[in-house]
Amino acid sequence: MLQVNGINVFYGNIQALHDVSIHVEEGEIVTLIGANGAGKSTLLKTLSGLLKPKTGEIMYLGKPIHGKAAQTIVKDGMSHVPEGRRVFANLTVEENLELGAYIRSDKAGIAKDMAHVYELFPRLLERKKQLSGTLSGGEQQMLAMGRALMAKPKILLMDEPSMGLAPLMVKAIFDIIKMVNAEGTTVLLVEQNAHMALSVASRAYVLETGRIVLSGDAQQLKESDEVRAAYLGGL
Ligand code: ATP
Repeated sequence: MLQVNGINVFYGNIQALHDVSIHVEEGEIVTLIGANGAGKSTLLKTLSGLLKPKTGEIMYLGKPIHGKAAQTIVKDGMSHVPEGRRVFANLTVEENLELGAYIRSDKAGIAKDMAHVYELFPRLLERKKQLSGTLSGGEQQMLAMGRALMAKPKILLMDEPSMGLAPLMVKAIFDIIKMVNAEGTTVLLVEQNAHMALSVASRAYVLETGRIVLSGDAQQLKESDEVRAAYLGGL
């Protein structure tokens, strides 16, 4: 579904990604783990068209998308849930969800998906008229996910959904990621919480200072000495 071939991404003169290649097949949950500053967010931003690779290619559904505008990529079915949630604080929960569907015009489909988002996240239904800035961190993460789902994505790119959340909320968010995936949405999940990420994913990549240094079956990586020592606190 998604094939990244040897991309190099720069911020000015600083190279943030070195010859990165990954692939995601339809129906998978794939995770990309790595420490702070490894380049995880940079990779997601490059996939969703917010940054352009200097060299290399990104193939999505069999077509090149590097160089395409972010809005076109959303229309093609790729939705990005950014790090730090980025909900519109001065808009209500419902208005944020409506904005997620801005690329669509099928009113009946939008209403159906809004009802489904409220089913997945009953807390958002309870708070639908509330200003988003007044929500807790976990609720804002739910809203950011719900908003991305309103675009009816084929693939969801999630940037550190567990960041700053209490363990129970992290578990709730990961349960929903699994549910959304079971309903047919492919997921590429970026995480510093390697333990949770490797538990939900089928495959994983490890990124260190802009380079993929390990990849493979998530369960096997979770049990490998290298990953345990560097990312699981020796667990
Ligand atoms: P984090 O968990 O902190 O988001 P990350 O793995 O997502 O980490 P990136 O944010 O992708 O890492 O950053 C990768 C590298 O690129 C870092 O060295 C960072 O300092 C640098 N970088 C990120 N954004 C910019 C920018 N706008 N301008 C210059 N350098 C940047």
